[in-house]
Amino acid sequence: MPQPFSMAIHGGAGTILREQMSDELQVSILADLEASVRAGYNVLAKSGDALDAVVAAVKVLEDSPNFNAGKGSVLTNKEMVEMDASVMHGLDMDAGAIAGVRHIKNPVELARDVMTKSNHVFLIAEGAEEFAFEHGYEFIEQDYFFTDRRYDQLQSMKEKGLFALSESKYPDDKKFGTVGAVALDQHGNLAAATSTGGITNKKYGRVGDSSIIGAGTFAENGNVAVSTTGMGEFFIRKTVAGDVAARMRYLKEDVHTASESVIQGELKEMGGEGGLIAIDHNGDVHFAMNSSGMYRACIDVDGELSIKIYADE
Ligand code: ASP
Repeated sequence: MPQPFSMAIHGGAGTILREQMSDELQVSILADLEASVRAGYNVLAKSGDALDAVVAAVKVLEDSPNFNAGKGSVLTNKEMVEMDASVMHGLDMDAGAIAGVRHIKNPVELARDVMTKSNHVFLIAEGAEEFAFEHGYEFIEQDYFFTDRRYDQLQSMKEKGLFALSESKYPDDKKFGTVGAVALDQHGNLAAATSTGGITNKKYGRVGDSSIIGAGTFAENGNVAVSTTGMGEFFIRKTVAGDVAARMRYLKEDVHTASESVIQGELKEMGGEGGLIAIDHNGDVHFAMNSSGMYRACIDVDGELSIKIYADE
């Protein structure tokens, strides 16, 4: 029997409220989600590697202003964009991550290159950019990443004197908007990638879970690949992505049970709002969320496409 393959992506937990979602925006978001999952799936269909598939899928969402990653990232307290990303390949459990980069068009590519072209796993800020420029990356001005929507969002947050940690008072309807992808390829490799601008009004070089292996991203062949989205301060402390993998590895839970146990369990009890996407070694996909929704799509082992926004869909 041929090795099954499948692909899943997310565009962040905590979606825009139904009543505030215009038809135009919804059409645009759905088109991006479809383009992303298809970009990844096309790599898999041509017998490509799961890591190339997740990077291809995440790049599509980084390039869209609709999501909080790459172009369209949220703004820091100093009105800058500072982005975090990570990737993991399940074969040798290789990983790469970057945090606090300001001038890299596709942070997910840089995370991959940290994994494949450096002896390190995690590079930050100016150092990560120095590494990037040494490896031929173009310097991208901050203007490229800016969108009016994120600027208004930051001003509203500042006027109210709120920090993004007051997640229950997010002016943007609790929309987190981080992006991520997980894939199983035809060689049985699992991979995961996550990319984000973090949270609005962040200060002091704050970094969330998205660039932390075991919190925001995890992949282990024969087991599972996971990418998360939500309030990073909780996801880091609960090592969410790694916990799903550990439950499957030690408790022999399936991907659905493990994902739900983590997202609806102690994480939720401690106030950790968000969700995750996971794909197991058979290509079985699970979307878990304790938020009002999560932008998400998958193409399953039968080649069936599914795209959803709200939790009750
Ligand atoms: N997890 C991200 C962070 O805390 C936010 C998000 O998922 O949108 O930086």
